[in-house]
Amino acid sequence: MTLQSFSLPSATERLTVSYDGIRRAAEIICHGGVVAFGTETVYGLGALSTSRKAVARIFDIKGRPSFNPLINHFATPDRAFAEVTLDIPLREQALALAERFWPGPLTLVLPRHEGSRICDTASAALPSLALRVPQGRAIQEMLRLIDAPVAAPSANRSGLISPSTASHVLSGLDGKIDAILDTGPSAVGVESTVVDLSGARPLLLRPGGITREALEEICGPVDTQTSDNHQPRSPGQLSSHYAPHLPLRLNADHIKASEALLAFGHIPGALRHSPLIWNLSENEDLAEAAARLFAGLHFLDYEGKRRNLSGIAAMPLPSHGMGLALLDRLRRAAAPRPHQN
Ligand code: AMP
Ligand code: MG
Repeated sequence: MTLQSFSLPSATERLTVSYDGIRRAAEIICHGGVVAFGTETVYGLGALSTSRKAVARIFDIKGRPSFNPLINHFATPDRAFAEVTLDIPLREQALALAERFWPGPLTLVLPRHEGSRICDTASAALPSLALRVPQGRAIQEMLRLIDAPVAAPSANRSGLISPSTASHVLSGLDGKIDAILDTGPSAVGVESTVVDLSGARPLLLRPGGITREALEEICGPVDTQTSDNHQPRSPGQLSSHYAPHLPLRLNADHIKASEALLAFGHIPGALRHSPLIWNLSENEDLAEAAARLFAGLHFLDYEGKRRNLSGIAAMPLPSHGMGLALLDRLRRAAAPRPHQN
């Protein structure tokens, strides 16, 4: 895109999935703007990873701590891999995972190439970079037009519930971002799985849209992050995150007075009298539950507050498949909130 005199929008522009809408989103990002757009995981807040000024705006708009690095998005695996070195012990695993899951909800962490133009503030000055090739024609087309790495964390204030629709984004960030490209509700509904391949063995930093079982089929055993290996490898995994305003109680087997219910599958008698219920999946389908998780938390929180309810009780969920990502989000949504803003 050509760099002529350009002023960023003075209010948040609403863009739709059309040639003009996608082109406008790309143009704003190319000129240092910040645009929210739908991906298959959640809505992202995108800006050029190569511009310190644009990256600073993402951190500022989100209120995100500077030690939490951003994921870089690309139109193709080749463009993603150009930013890192594959001269590593897990080279074959990196190529096989990209071949199988890109475009899709998988983020790979790899050692940064010395020639990478991604600025140090986007990667929190780490020696590695997080890369993803997202799915969806609109976002792919936009990234192709931009032709540079796009940093895109979730389009919400740091610590709060992630957005899976354009209206979730606008309820928190209208007026603070330059534009939003409304691509409809996010199909997967939880963030990408993050796997670190920069060490001797694959390490799962964050469960997400690709299950551990599916990963291991392609690249063999994957280690899990523990408190010992946690800090240096993934500085962004804060214990409190995704938090609704109402308190959230996990593994509920009864309902306390005036609690909303986040249900999964058949609702037992002891829970059925909750005044406000969102069922993630009546058929216990974990993919459906993931797609409905953040919408459910937004709904129960908003409607629960409006009706003066005391909190949200969540039914137990299985820990296999996508259940691992759901439980991770719910545990952090229920954690104490030292830094809420
Ligand atoms: P978010 O943008 O909030 O979806 O989170 C991105 C996640 O990727 C955070 O948990 C970061 O800690 C993690 N991440 C990003 N870059 C790196 C990196 N270079 N090394 C380890 N983890 C990373
Ligand atoms: Mg987020």
